Amino acid sequence: MAATASSSSALTSSSAHNWQDALLDSIEVGIVVVDADFTVHQFNQFMENHSSVSASEIKGKSLFAYFKEIDRKWLINKCQPVFSMNTPVFVIWEQRQYLFKFGTSRPITSSSDHMYQNITILPIASANGQVDRICILVYDMTDQAMSKERVEKLNEELKVISRVDGLTGLFNRRYWQERFEREFKLTYRNKKPISVLMLDIDHFKKVNDTHGHQAGDRVIQSLAMLIRKATRETDISGRYGGEEFVVLLPDTNTETARVVGERIRLVAERYAVKHEHIEINFTISAGIAEFNSSYTRPLMWLEAADQALYKAKESGRNKVVLAE
Ligand code: GH3
Ligand code: MG
Ligand code: MG
Repeated sequence: MAATASSSSALTSSSAHNWQDALLDSIEVGIVVVDADFTVHQFNQFMENHSSVSASEIKGKSLFAYFKEIDRKWLINKCQPVFSMNTPVFVIWEQRQYLFKFGTSRPITSSSDHMYQNITILPIASANGQVDRICILVYDMTDQAMSKERVEKLNEELKVISRVDGLTGLFNRRYWQERFEREFKLTYRNKKPISVLMLDIDHFKKVNDTHGHQAGDRVIQSLAMLIRKATRETDISGRYGGEEFVVLLPDTNTETARVVGERIRLVAERYAVKHEHIEINFTISAGIAEFNSSYTRPLMWLEAADQALYKAKESGRNKVVLAE
């Protein structure tokens, strides 16, 4: 890198002024010294390298004339206490991505291809204690910002993965139950109708025994797809067990829930699962329970749907039964 290369040669320079310049040029931090009018007095190699403006060109000129991207009012405001109160000011990239719009040499994998910068603004007091110049330090924080962005993205993905059932893409039992309990608590307050539907594939053991476990998995996946298609965005569907599913239907009374249950039952009955050149037909049974205040615990409510499902099985399967 140019700044590093210059460090080895220039630091040996004889005159005091030159070695100070060389020192400023050797570090991987941008250094700009300006006065109260933002006339530039110092502009180091880091700044030259990233801006393609040379120090000799900009010295004695206004900073704003060369860097149009700088929000003039904002910077003057930030620098005001540095001049008047002799205190440093810090701006981190989380607050403002950059002061100087520099590119980065990193692969463009992020939301921005501009350098992330931390900015420190230091007062430079003259002999009489008056701050007549300030030093703007520019730290390249792109690597840190990128890794933070990556970690946040990974965390977000992990969160999604931990909620989802791998085979079907529906919510897994643990997360579905969490949502179910949350809705149960809300329902006590907002008094809107809400129903829960529990369904189970009929004679599923036979599917596994006849066509194999893989074919069984395909049937489970197909049913999940049908459930997703037959329900609304706001419904909360989950895989409760092997071939057992649950759907929480907000703003839905018993009658409407029955329509949804019947719709799923019918599309399942009509759907042929294709697996290795054969077609597999299947049916489902479902139990439905609308919430009422006699259910004092979430599991009591779910139990009612499970009882209804049991009745659907008992009375011949391929049926939707409502809880009493
Ligand atoms: P019923 O009509 O009474 O529901 O009869 P069934 O044969 O479907 O009985 P049950 O619901 O008790 O059986 C579930 C079977 O599902 C047992 C198990 O071997 C099978 N199973 C559970 N999880 C999976 C899975 O992930 N993949 C496959 N292929 N089979 C599974
Ligand atoms: Mg079953
Ligand atoms: Mg079952």
